[in-house]
Amino acid sequence: MNRNQMSKNVFSLEGKLALVTGGGTGIGLGIAQAFVKAGAQVVITGRREYVLQQAVEQLGNNTVYVVNDITDKEAIPSLVAEIEQNVGAINILVNNAGIHHKAMAQDTSDEDFERVIQTNLLSVFSLTRECAKYMLERKSGSIIMIGSMAGLFGIDRVVAYGSSKTALTGLVNALVTEYSTSNVRVNAIAPGWIESKMFINAINNDPERKAQITNRIAMDHFGQPEDIGHAAVFLSSEAARYITGVVLPVDGGATVNF
Ligand code: NDP
Repeated sequence: MNRNQMSKNVFSLEGKLALVTGGGTGIGLGIAQAFVKAGAQVVITGRREYVLQQAVEQLGNNTVYVVNDITDKEAIPSLVAEIEQNVGAINILVNNAGIHHKAMAQDTSDEDFERVIQTNLLSVFSLTRECAKYMLERKSGSIIMIGSMAGLFGIDRVVAYGSSKTALTGLVNALVTEYSTSNVRVNAIAPGWIESKMFINAINNDPERKAQITNRIAMDHFGQPEDIGHAAVFLSSEAARYITGVVLPVDGGATVNF
């Protein structure tokens, strides 16, 4: 082993390009921030241009944004092709964009269910398949799905959301059987309660509800978007080169404490 190999930082993402969907807010922004700190160049997407503009100002020079609605199936091939041609080869894909729908099963319409599945599952598959076309050819890549604790356990009033997140585990499992020989790794992160707009909205910013939830977290406090970012950096780095097919809970022990 020479000196360079010995001093190589296996957690560095220097020279890598990451695509983070929904990277303008909350967990996506936390992931983008952690990637930039680890040396990666980052492309963030979302539907609202002003949100993405603000995020890029915050993230600095090594980031660009593309306005994109992930449910627009027709736009996915050109989104990926344009990034590949104009920015660079996508080494890391983080499927973070997602929506929540809170309602009892009996009050959830087919349309509500379809909308959640469209954003949180079908779009994830379409974008993953498109990015993987390039990654499989290059025989290198890391794909991360942002799942949820709600996909691991039965939780009331999240029938559509929980179903979409559980299905991501099936997607990870299936893709691992097909992509691994091409050195494309596929993993998921299952965040617990992370302080973001989605979380605050989901509990109606209710202090009593916040206190109840805190009691269910073994570490006794909520997570922050950067906690998910650090896990995503690890899973995308050389340090995780032999890790594929895992669903990693990042939840302060909430799932163990459930
Ligand atoms: P936010 O609501 O802050 O972020 C969601 C992001 O997704 C936004 O940037 C939004 O941007 C983007 N998005 C939503 N729909 C689309 C779409 N159709 N096309 C493109 N972008 C879209 O919530 P979080 O940061 O909390 O959530 C991020 C991920 O983490 C989600 O997948 C969520 O399920 C997951 N998660 C969150 C937890 C939490 O406690 N916060 C817990 C477990 C999982 P825009 O509206 O501009 O399009």
